[in-house]
Amino acid sequence: MKIHEYQGKELLKRYGVAVPRGIPCFSVDEAVSAAKTLGGPVWVVKAQIHAGGRGKGGGVKLARSVDEVRQRASEILGMQLITHQTSPQGQKVRRLLIEEGADIKKELYIGLVVDRVTQRITMMASSEGGMDIEEVAEHTPEKIHKVAVDPAVGLADAEADSLSRQIGIPEASLPQARTILKGLYQAFWDTDASLAEINPLILTGDGRVVALDAKLNFDSNALFRHPEIVALRDLDEEDPAEIEASKFDLAYIQLDGNIGCLVNGAGLAMATMDTIKLFGGEPANFLDVGGGATTEKVTEAFKIMLRNPELKAILVNIFGGIMKCDTIAEGVIAASKAVGLKVPLVVRMKGTNEDLGKKMLAESGLPIISADTMAEAAQKVVAAASAA
Ligand code: ADP
Ligand code: MG
Repeated sequence: MKIHEYQGKELLKRYGVAVPRGIPCFSVDEAVSAAKTLGGPVWVVKAQIHAGGRGKGGGVKLARSVDEVRQRASEILGMQLITHQTSPQGQKVRRLLIEEGADIKKELYIGLVVDRVTQRITMMASSEGGMDIEEVAEHTPEKIHKVAVDPAVGLADAEADSLSRQIGIPEASLPQARTILKGLYQAFWDTDASLAEINPLILTGDGRVVALDAKLNFDSNALFRHPEIVALRDLDEEDPAEIEASKFDLAYIQLDGNIGCLVNGAGLAMATMDTIKLFGGEPANFLDVGGGATTEKVTEAFKIMLRNPELKAILVNIFGGIMKCDTIAEGVIAASKAVGLKVPLVVRMKGTNEDLGKKMLAESGLPIISADTMAEAAQKVVAAASAA
């Protein structure tokens, strides 16, 4: 789960991380009064969306007067902000952060991830912060310094100081940087975060170290023990199809292709997508209906897939283990009738009650294309999608 920059900063502030003074706003009037409350002479108007690259996309603007804050806020609020991390249509800006303008002397980078190889939280730091960190990682990886933190000890003072020195933080600012790095690590640990990025962490003209941006992602599987984080969720930033799917406990991820996939089991779902791609098709979604899906769940899954305007064909690929093929057949028939299915439907079923399931589909009167093997199913659905 992702949160907004202003929410991330509020959280990190409680861990002693220095952040600029700022006020989140939902309207232009609120932005103007926030600017007055903060006082000048320089403000930054920042679009709040769950994607980075806002600066380059025109979502972060400097303002040198309250009038300019009003002007910038009215430009940014409501705009479709397109960045390299949004979809090509961009994301609508519904919230702003009005922040005091910082005196930036140098932009640095700090990132935290869970490294599966070392099984530790790894802190990465670079002197080359700002808007092009991806370029740094690609072309000059030696400029990214790392420490894999021992979970029994936490980030040690010496580790924090060593990273700080490697990225050029002057000796006089080391104690401040130490507080920030240790606070970041502790916040990451306490909240079960999966990713944290401070880009840029800045050095100011007067030698202060400040987190100017804050990106935090949390492990969805740990959210049950963090109601305070769940409360920060902004559904406007999430895919409506994925929100709907989560209500029915369906694992659904929207993708760019045109072949809908309804599969039981994450492994089979991935193999199905691979097979579709192997035969030249593009999956429209990942969907795992789970081991014990009911007719209702299958119906909902169909409805969610069919909302996608790009959808050209559907492949149902079921292994009947705990799940019985006749249950799926019942769901497929009910859903096809309920939603008035207009795209070709290829069904492959194997396992428990396979014959019964196939018989039900055959007798349903629906134009279902059946397939026996994965390869045959994928080829048929790819052909159906390209003919549509
Ligand atoms: P994004 O990473 O989405 O582009 P940032 O919050 O990192 O957004 O802002 C982009 C750039 O805007 C920063 O690298 C920094 O140069 C500048 N910036 C952001 N916030 C401030 C601020 N409060 N004062 C001065 N400059 C800022
Ligand atoms: Mg940034």
